[in-house]
Amino acid sequence: NLSERLDRSFKLLKGEGRITEINVAETLKDVRRALLDADVNYIVAKQFTDLVKEKALGQNVLTSVRPGELMVKIVHDELATLMGGHSVDINLKGSPAIILMSGLQGSGKTTFSGKLANMLKSKQGKHPMLVACDVYRPAAIQQLMILGEQLQVPVYSEPDSKNPVEIARHAVAEAKTKGHDVVIIDTAGRLAIDEEMMREIEAIKAAVDPGEVLFVVDSMTGQDAVNTAKEFNTRLDFDGVVLTKLDGDTRGGAALSIRSVVDKPIKFVGTGEKMEAIDVFHPERMADRILGMGDIVSLVERAQEQYDEREARKLEEKIAKNQFDFNDFLAQIHQIKKMGNLKELASMIPGVGKAIKDMDIDDDAFKSIEAIIYSMTPEERSHPSILNGQRRKRIATGSGTSIQEVNRLITQFDQTRKMMKNIQGFKGGKMPKMPRM
Ligand code: GDP
Ligand code: MG
Repeated sequence: NLSERLDRSFKLLKGEGRITEINVAETLKDVRRALLDADVNYIVAKQFTDLVKEKALGQNVLTSVRPGELMVKIVHDELATLMGGHSVDINLKGSPAIILMSGLQGSGKTTFSGKLANMLKSKQGKHPMLVACDVYRPAAIQQLMILGEQLQVPVYSEPDSKNPVEIARHAVAEAKTKGHDVVIIDTAGRLAIDEEMMREIEAIKAAVDPGEVLFVVDSMTGQDAVNTAKEFNTRLDFDGVVLTKLDGDTRGGAALSIRSVVDKPIKFVGTGEKMEAIDVFHPERMADRILGMGDIVSLVERAQEQYDEREARKLEEKIAKNQFDFNDFLAQIHQIKKMGNLKELASMIPGVGKAIKDMDIDDDAFKSIEAIIYSMTPEERSHPSILNGQRRKRIATGSGTSIQEVNRLITQFDQTRKMMKNIQGFKGGKMPKMPRM
């Protein structure tokens, strides 16, 4: 499935220390393939990977914790953005507010009508009325009646009428007199789009002027869902999408494609046959679901929090002005320790990374470095140049290390300082930029 595929392609990246042109291209190829496999529309998949590529190159990955994971996060965030970024409410203005359901037969219109009525009643204290406008199948009216009874929501129907436009109009009038604040109109669908059905629902829309037209689509229909959505949108200019049957073995592709092809928000998802199985659509969560990677995302976010970019900037400036001292050195060591996973992270920390690159990094290695710095006076820490032989000897004794170890640290520190000062790009107080693709 999609998550597994992405996992695999990101695994390739995770081992890499840097994002380069080649591994970005390779990974995006995999991402695109995975999206296509999940029934995401080809153009959508292409646009998506192009966007991710731009973002990946635009971010200063050198200051990032792990480029591979940053890529995962970029993909996740772009997925969420592509699906609208945030959840969108339905329009409940008007007295009564009128909600019209559209979609193919079997997409879940009737079921969703019940779910929505139930949600508005129990969570928002509304007094909804359901309207049975599927006049072609007696069983359809019956289905809605049963739901209404179960939910204690009145259902308006005219069993002898064959005119859904009239039924809808009468229903709205009835709702007004009976004081219902929401009218939910369930309509008929065909197994495939046909002209008669389209004309009928257009006529219902024109007759009652609903504030909210919802397009209900079975998320398991994959690529077909996109074409259906396009057709309905052209004819009805609907306001939102309801994605049903997300509880099954569903590939999330439909959500992605529909949103970007018709540019209408997905507002709800159906996650089961029960009346409670309705959720407001959250793009973030859907992105999690598509990628199946909630853990990775939070891990990356945690790491990014801990590695405060502003601190890094300040430090870069200090380095540029040759003011980097043992206090900074110590602070950076604490930073590294906090992040865990030392080996991979250490080399990215300005100031210390280069100095300890060749060391066998474990907590013990830090212990003696820390002990040595702790044994320095504040003055020695901020003005390392005063560290003469006598002071070094005192520090060695105080820290329980040897004078050789103290010397080694000071030499490494001096080298680091010189090296950092000389790195081109640091002179302006900025990190070196990534090469362009
Ligand atoms: P309509 O023809 O568009 O009115 O579709 P229905 O509401 O009658 O639903 C068709 C079938 O899909 C029924 O068997 C429903 O129980 C089922 N169904 C609808 N929504 C969901 C859902 O979110 N999850 C699952 N698993 N089944 C659903
Ligand atoms: Mg129905």
